[in-house]
Amino acid sequence: MAQDPTGDQRPPNHQRAHTTVCTTCRGRIDTTQWYPIRTEVIDETVRLRPFCCDRCLAVWEVETSTE
Ligand SMILES: [Zn+2]
Repeated sequence: MAQDPTGDQRPPNHQRAHTTVCTTCRGRIDTTQWYPIRTEVIDETVRLRPFCCDRCLAVWEVETSTE
């Protein structure tokens, strides 16, 4: 009864495959679509910063500006 292969089940472990999280708003990003991404170097480690939209990218760029 608990397992229904025809049901709309979304296993938690499977969601990571096609989604990532916006750096600014923590919203889900559909990685099958184009989305803006930037790289940031922290302690000589390159980190990817994905964004759900240009607006979140702009917010992040302002927040990370040291000027
Ligand atoms: Zn966002």
